[in-house]
Amino acid sequence: MGSTFTTYKGVKSDSSLFSNSKPIPIYLQFVPGIVIDVVTSSESKTFAANMRNINSILAIPHVGKKTLTRSGTVGEDNRYYPLFRGTSDVPTKGDPVLLCTIGNIQYYLGPLNTINNPNWNVMTLTNLSRSKDFIDQWVHKTDWIVTSFHPNVIKTQAQRDKWFEKALSYKKKTLLNIKILMDPLHWDYCLDKYNSLNDEDISLTPVRIHNVAEATRPQTYIHYTPEQEKILSNLKAKMGNNLRKEASPIPERETTLKYDDGEEQTSIGAFDAWHITSQIMRHDRNKFKGWLCRMGLDNLHIDEKGNIYRGICATDKQTSVGHITELHHVKWPVSPTICPKTYCYCEGEVGITKRKLKSAEIKLIRDKIK
Ligand code: SF4
Repeated sequence: MGSTFTTYKGVKSDSSLFSNSKPIPIYLQFVPGIVIDVVTSSESKTFAANMRNINSILAIPHVGKKTLTRSGTVGEDNRYYPLFRGTSDVPTKGDPVLLCTIGNIQYYLGPLNTINNPNWNVMTLTNLSRSKDFIDQWVHKTDWIVTSFHPNVIKTQAQRDKWFEKALSYKKKTLLNIKILMDPLHWDYCLDKYNSLNDEDISLTPVRIHNVAEATRPQTYIHYTPEQEKILSNLKAKMGNNLRKEASPIPERETTLKYDDGEEQTSIGAFDAWHITSQIMRHDRNKFKGWLCRMGLDNLHIDEKGNIYRGICATDKQTSVGHITELHHVKWPVSPTICPKTYCYCEGEVGITKRKLKSAEIKLIRDKIK
């Protein structure tokens, strides 16, 4: 149901000698809606074995704050097709759209530009080695700074104090996440810092160091002692209370974990999802080789030279899809990827939607997305 007749409080007919005033029905050609699901490929959950459904959405229409459908009953009646031909910006879950019905076909327009921000979150990964003057030029343009503390490089107490002072100076300018690389050779300092840094304006993540280069550089192999392993697996990502306030611009996320025995665990909200991805990393469970991953569809990585990649994990093979100065030449990813990596080592990318494939599916999908 796109277009609708509705009434508004306070919009009434005049009262006359013969009757009291009554609400006047108003015809709305476009009804505001919220996206519940999106079909981006034949792998999408609501594809319904119909190629025509690619780029369609399932949405709930609403007038004011009242939705016109209960989210539990969303089905084919809530499917909408793009109104314009050649629409390239397909909405994502939670996006606002406009819905209408023309000649029995339900269409959507959108995603809508609500706060002059077309629903991209820009996250800047940095070790803060550049000068403050340089960082000050762009810090207000990024939604997040994610910065990692490397105790093997920043070694003296004075250097460390200076680094944390610099990092914390950005907490009021943008959202700040500090990652402490829990280096077993600098363990005491890292653990102390993790325990003592309780700032309500930042999020803090203790990070397990993964041996991503173990085959090529075995000399860099990192070993944790059994005691360190035990502590590491019990540490939690900390999220400052001020980031949890309602006005926080952190986007909502939905994370679903499905286990082989069929158990399913979904957490809705940025904070729970953040905690889950951090936990997966520290428990050394970030191994998704052979899984189907929406890398490149749900996120992109841009390197320091402006090259655009489906994700950080695609940078090593130099498989850039284009350059930020030539957006009209970018080959925007249109299909998911079968994960080729031993480790998914970026926490943000661990949180990208992915699912384990059954062995019978792997060849089928590989042929389809070649
Ligand atoms: S490494 Fe991570 S982001 Fe990259 S394809 Fe594998 S699961 Fe996806």
